[in-house]
Amino acid sequence: MRSKAVTKMVEVRGLKKHFIAERGLFFGSKKWILAVDGVDFHIEKGEIFGLVGESGCGKSTVGKLILGLWKPTAGRIYSDGQDIADMDGGELRKLRRRMSIVYQHPYSSFNPRMLVRDIVGRPLVTFGIAKGREKDELVAKALKEVGLNPEHMFRYPHEFSGGQQQRIAVARVLALNPDFVVLDEPTSALDMSVQAHILNLLSHLHQKYNFSYLFISHDLNVIEHMSDRIGVMYVGKLLEVATKEELYKNPLHPYTRFLLDAVLVPNPRRRRKHEILKGEVPSPINPPPGCRFHPRCPYATDICRKEFPELLDIGGKHQVACHLVSRK
Ligand code: SF4
Repeated sequence: MRSKAVTKMVEVRGLKKHFIAERGLFFGSKKWILAVDGVDFHIEKGEIFGLVGESGCGKSTVGKLILGLWKPTAGRIYSDGQDIADMDGGELRKLRRRMSIVYQHPYSSFNPRMLVRDIVGRPLVTFGIAKGREKDELVAKALKEVGLNPEHMFRYPHEFSGGQQQRIAVARVLALNPDFVVLDEPTSALDMSVQAHILNLLSHLHQKYNFSYLFISHDLNVIEHMSDRIGVMYVGKLLEVATKEELYKNPLHPYTRFLLDAVLVPNPRRRRKHEILKGEVPSPINPPPGCRFHPRCPYATDICRKEFPELLDIGGKHQVACHLVSRK
């Protein structure tokens, strides 16, 4: 039997990313954006882990940190049990080939003057996987896999619809034969009907190749459709992690309950009493002390205003960061 650590594709511990927001006139008067502020979770091999939260909560930053596109301010990122901070140049190169990302707006990640053949094929050349005819064959195969015609490789990206451009972005990732993919709001810029096609394609590829996905979205319906386990983020912190079934049936964090209450649920048996979430999401510059959610939480007590609750394991793969739950 394999050890538990080996089943983890990715693990992050105490992950932080703070950006400088502005510099004052005087030395030391910096302001910091606490985009990600101490996050712990892992993604199993072959698992789809959904990261959900409102815009600006830090979920996309987590994805970029895991892929090494940004350097963390603090914390550790492990890939296959190995700390990526300890990897040498060759190991990091291999890691970059194995881990990839699909963005919300694929067109902005394309060079508009390149043919699709070069957009999809360039990483194959960069990583020394294939060139020339062999590269074109791999590009054609990847385009077919995502439902495009191999002849499309001789066109430019502006000749395609938004959904087709997202398929090209997926083909570019697929050609590298990765084992971990960050999907950063991959359908939120698309029409509803196209969204469903892209989600089905991503599910199909996951089943066929057993990728691990970090699926980032603000949309709880999409997250429910795609994920095995889900983490709920709020102002740089992870507030709740649970399997999809557990989170939607038994949400324990007040913020998760508000989020779920705000979603239109077609099944009347799943509708709960509708509670309105008051107030605005606080700024990640100078976020509230204690529990980040306390200014909006109807259950807040003194301890909530002073101490951030730990993400507590309550069994059944369910973790919650709330003083109410930890006192149970
Ligand atoms: Fe509300 Fe306190 Fe729980 Fe935060 S810790 S969600 S403020 S009850």
